[in-house]
Amino acid sequence: MTPRPAAGLCDSCRHQRLVPNTRGSVFSLCERSQSDPAYPRYPRLPVFRCPGWEPDPAAPEPPR
Ligand code: SF4
Repeated sequence: MTPRPAAGLCDSCRHQRLVPNTRGSVFSLCERSQSDPAYPRYPRLPVFRCPGWEPDPAAPEPPR
């Protein structure tokens, strides 16, 4: 599988879902987009600021 580019804040956010396609790429989907149209389904990466970010307990600390 092809390494994906860093998604910034999304990589440590509980609302991120990684979606592979059939060609081996992986996309960073924002699940907040399902309930709030202010959030794009596939945000432009990397995301440096986001008011919707919430920590993913399984992810490393976000960059400071
Ligand atoms: S809420 Fe913000 S930081 Fe979290 S996945 Fe969506 S766009 Fe990324």
